[in-house]
Amino acid sequence: MGGYAAPTHGRDVDKKITSKQVADVGEFGLIKLLTEGLSYDAQTIVGVGDDCAVYEVSKGHYLLATCDMLIDGVHFSRKTASPFLIGCKALACSLSDIAAMGGRPLFALISLGLPETTAEEFAQDLYVGIRSMCRDYHVSLVGGDTVRSPERVVIDVSMIGDCPKGKYVLRSGAKPGDAIVVTGYLGSSAAGLEIVSGKQSESDAERRSELIEAHLAPEPRCAHGVFLVENFEIHSMMDVSDGLAGDLGHICEQSKLGARIHADKIPISETLKAFCDSAALNPLKYALAGGEDYELLFTLAPAELERLTSRWPDMFEIPLTHIGEMDANIKGIHIISAGRRERPLDAQSYEHFRKSRERE
Ligand SMILES: [Mg+2]
Repeated sequence: MGGYAAPTHGRDVDKKITSKQVADVGEFGLIKLLTEGLSYDAQTIVGVGDDCAVYEVSKGHYLLATCDMLIDGVHFSRKTASPFLIGCKALACSLSDIAAMGGRPLFALISLGLPETTAEEFAQDLYVGIRSMCRDYHVSLVGGDTVRSPERVVIDVSMIGDCPKGKYVLRSGAKPGDAIVVTGYLGSSAAGLEIVSGKQSESDAERRSELIEAHLAPEPRCAHGVFLVENFEIHSMMDVSDGLAGDLGHICEQSKLGARIHADKIPISETLKAFCDSAALNPLKYALAGGEDYELLFTLAPAELERLTSRWPDMFEIPLTHIGEMDANIKGIHIISAGRRERPLDAQSYEHFRKSRERE
């Protein structure tokens, strides 16, 4: 049509069209591409890039916001997990992100995409799981959306929390000389995933169920996060969702520091050790490159750590382990193996969209 410019709907018509696929740029490359140059208002204290966004609703009163999407075949499998546990886990991911800021979960909205052929019972049982987590963690389920999905079950949880004493902890606050500490054990979830998906086998029934439980029924560390932030000077914190190597890498990057960790101090459960022994596998690989442990990884001054370790056992049963130090003189993460030299650790964490996704 002469003289009429077709509406561009805000698209930059001059933008170079490339033949790249999202797999070529990777998960983090895609996030960068989509969020570069975003501008925030003055009340947005933290935008994209931490476990939660932080929004100051009124002076000194902060809300935390996070969302997590789970897709059948990517984050869970209907073949190996009950709808109840799938529902629980969907909530656990978001709860863990709130915990990672030292916050308290308040309410959630859930969007659900279901293929038309989904059994009514599946949806009901899924919500028994979702609602039981909401009850246990004092979260109000206030709304959501339900849509038809062409092929797979999709669950998206949006969660809002707050900071009871006006304090929250970011990934970017680590200081040189900080002790690096982690709650619980690492790697069990990744081993559990390999067992449920048939990649590995475990004949010992007790070990099998413990590892699978670590994968299917993680317990977000909400009470632990609040306790840490309310009582101690925690400099940086996040949850371990992609494996220690990648996640500690985020703290290093965002705090502009390096980290030195000791291989023999990384907390690995007796069960994971026994499983790895019998299958001639290296438990460290699970702890470093595995994912979905949903433990808390944080840093604090050595004197604060001393105070913390004396109080922790009275409060919680799960262990607290000092695994290393933040260091301004090294780049990235260095690992010291028993009797071996210090070496740089490659980020081996799970990244979505990567074509060659080696998880070893
Ligand atoms: Mg997280």
